[in-house]
Amino acid sequence: MRVLHAGLRVQHGGGVLPPRRSEPDPASPACDNEHGPNGFDLHALSGNLCRCTGYRPIRDAAYALGSPEIDDAFAARTAAPPPPAVATRLAVDGAEFRRPASLAEALDPVADNPGAQVVAGSTDHGVEVNIRGARAPYVVAVDRIAELREFSFGPDEVVVGAGLTLSEVERLLVGRVPLLAQLFPQFASRLIRNGATIGGNLGTASPIGDTPPALLALDASLVLSSRNGDRVVSLADYFTGYRTTLKEPDELIRAVRIPMPLAPVTAFHKVAKRRFDDISSVAVGYALDVVDGTVVSARIGLGGVAATPLRASATEAALTGRPRTEMTVREAAAVMASEGTPMDDHRASSTYRSAMLGQSLLRLYAAHRPDRLEASA
Ligand SMILES: Cc1cc2nc3c(=O)[nH]c(=O)nc-3n(C[C@H](O)[C@H](O)[C@H](O)COP(=O)(O)OP(=O)(O)OC[C@H]3O[C@@H](n4cnc5c(N)ncnc54)[C@H](O)[C@@H]3O)c2cc1C
Repeated sequence: MRVLHAGLRVQHGGGVLPPRRSEPDPASPACDNEHGPNGFDLHALSGNLCRCTGYRPIRDAAYALGSPEIDDAFAARTAAPPPPAVATRLAVDGAEFRRPASLAEALDPVADNPGAQVVAGSTDHGVEVNIRGARAPYVVAVDRIAELREFSFGPDEVVVGAGLTLSEVERLLVGRVPLLAQLFPQFASRLIRNGATIGGNLGTASPIGDTPPALLALDASLVLSSRNGDRVVSLADYFTGYRTTLKEPDELIRAVRIPMPLAPVTAFHKVAKRRFDDISSVAVGYALDVVDGTVVSARIGLGGVAATPLRASATEAALTGRPRTEMTVREAAAVMASEGTPMDDHRASSTYRSAMLGQSLLRLYAAHRPDRLEASA
């Protein structure tokens, strides 16, 4: 059976059934991107790859349950914030777990134990634990530290605490950084985004992490904290090699700073084997400024095409100062296809990755009509 728009369903024989009583009416004001008409969280299952039944029968069953009673205690509990995490220190069989109460309290154990495993949402480190059997003897949890959860949106910069989850950042920004607004729905699934922190995505220093290409395009910098104080490093300088960075072992990422104003033309392109809940084969973040038909500045961040995330410097140069015409874009797309040193792996071949880079710039051009670019400059 196939589901048509407005909930109509086509049977295998071709007959059309009316919508199920429990099925959402897309025109209903109660429906939004996150919820069905009875408040059912449409993303609650995402990431649980149910290949036997598929998601729809499960969703139908949830709709069939109807809405909870107005005084339903469980519904009230799920709507309330989680209880605050308390400072914790656990020592078991020679291993220790610490959840410090403040940044100052976190920096000491990190500095005094060079092998300390810092964790935030543990969506990355957790995979090391449950798939690769990693057992860190000393773990310091930083995700609930208030100083790592700061957020401000000002005329000069946006400051995003490293301990905020992707979902929290999305809610706090409410679309005010359109490049990140494009990224969030493409990052894993809602369940992962509820735990994964922005600091953790930069802490892994993975060449295929999704936030680095976007943050490179946004010209972001990082605040690194240690017992000796804070320092600010440009994200463009942060990655030094495969999963290595300028961050010293005694430092924590405290915050991400994004300078304002934002470039008017931005986009985030992610190429992955699956549309959702998959790691990028290639990711591209764009931030361009076009005035009177001329590209006056271009910042392009790339992921998946080298040992580190990187800026597409040659492509940026091929665009900057030139008229934004199809010819310019085609020439720059050829340059972009040769950026980085893409490799063959189980996600994609190097040839495919290079081809996707060139295509990405053409796609950006197709999506932004010249009049729209000029009007927004
Ligand atoms: C099913 C699944 C899907 C995923 N999909 C995506 C995806 O689409 N895109 C993507 O980019 N990633 C994806 N990931 C990877 C992961 O979710 C992200 O990298 C996430 O941002 C990690 O954040 P975390 O808080 O969970 O980090 P953790 O696992 O807690 O930590 C990761 C690393 O960062 C370090 N770290 C964490 N916080 C700090 C800090 N404040 N200062 C210094 N170091 C720190 C830790 O020491 C550790 O080395 C996926 C993971 C899973 C399991």
